[in-house]
Amino acid sequence: MRHLKKVDPEIFKAILKETKRQNDKLELIASENFVSRAVMEAEASAMINKYAEGYPGKRWYSGCEFVDTAERIAIERAKNLFGAEHANVQPHSGSQANQAVYFSMLNIGDTVLAMDLRCGGHLTHGHNHNFSGKYFNVIHYCVDKKTEMLDYDVISNLAKIHKPKMILTGASAYPRIIDFKKFRKICDEVGAFLMVDMAHIAGLVAAGLHPNPVKYAEFVTTTTHKTMRGPRSGVILCKKRFAKKIDAQVFPGIQGGPFMHVIAAKAVCFKEALEPSFKKYQDQIIKNAKALAKGLSEKGYRIVSGGTDNHLLLVDLSNKNLTGKCASQILDDVGITINKNLIPFDKRSPAITSGIRLGTPALTTRGMGEKEMLVIAELINIALMNSANGKSLSLVKEEVRKLTKRFPLYQDLIKELEKT
Ligand code: PLP
Repeated sequence: MRHLKKVDPEIFKAILKETKRQNDKLELIASENFVSRAVMEAEASAMINKYAEGYPGKRWYSGCEFVDTAERIAIERAKNLFGAEHANVQPHSGSQANQAVYFSMLNIGDTVLAMDLRCGGHLTHGHNHNFSGKYFNVIHYCVDKKTEMLDYDVISNLAKIHKPKMILTGASAYPRIIDFKKFRKICDEVGAFLMVDMAHIAGLVAAGLHPNPVKYAEFVTTTTHKTMRGPRSGVILCKKRFAKKIDAQVFPGIQGGPFMHVIAAKAVCFKEALEPSFKKYQDQIIKNAKALAKGLSEKGYRIVSGGTDNHLLLVDLSNKNLTGKCASQILDDVGITINKNLIPFDKRSPAITSGIRLGTPALTTRGMGEKEMLVIAELINIALMNSANGKSLSLVKEEVRKLTKRFPLYQDLIKELEKT
């Protein structure tokens, strides 16, 4: 990055510091991960310069032959990875992928049944500050109060009462398997489309460790970061009969020129995900999440729904006399990065919360396993229970430092940057 350092030393310094921060801390934010250098190189390439409105072979600009190659490869790999009939790899983000599906299939004011943000859903699933809640009549389902899992009978009843045009499932904070077959049945009973937002679990789906929604849903959207471990971006998968409508809604419907450098990076991410090692990686993510849940549970922390089937867990801090906000600050100070999160039926506001959300994709990328997760559970507990004790907090910081040293991240990159 010698050019950057010369032209803009302030931004160079921020990038160097951010790279070091990622190496120096324990990243447990469930939606984050560390991409390979190959993905980074594809994104930081000359494809950043290219305007390519349209689709491969049908562009509004000349000179698209090589970005066409990248997009065609990305499309084929995405279809192959998930067994989809059609893939649109142009959405700039998960939110835009969702927006394109809503606007391609629904009219303003149409009814949608989706998971409540307060029970694990995403902003784009009908929050009133989001386009989805502003333009559509979104009815929300939640999890069962007792099991904290989806209750398909309740969802079916809501569908029969409200007759939605589309039912949306998928979540940002739901630690259990989602039964897409049951959702399909509910949709068929009321004549609704099924849309699945698999942003969080796409890596597990690609590896065959979570049921694949593509078989059941007309539309499947995903982000390509999170468990997929690719660039920050989005993808839409759909049945062939909706391909034209979806493509036209992404461009020119809601986006202009696609980010061809990001599409190239998505192609690389899909190639990596097609490797056998990706399945092993995803398997370890789940094992690590289960180990972390076990470790915390043994220390008296209540794990929402009693455990996890995927890459994340929600911890209810109510019995520990702590809020999510407070816990995330304490943990950040000792080098453990997590996020505060509402738990189902939370009495606190989203800015405070009664819970925290932990995810294992990033630390699994660093090579950590179940043993390390048990150590981290211990460190989290020491920090949270001794937040006023400087000595205990220093001890935790030192243990975090030792762990991050044992599982280094981006060392070659940091060395290169420091040498520049
Ligand atoms: N869908 C779900 C379930 C998510 O969790 C997220 C992001 O957290 C998104 C969509 C939106 O993705 P993006 O941040 O890329 O817009």
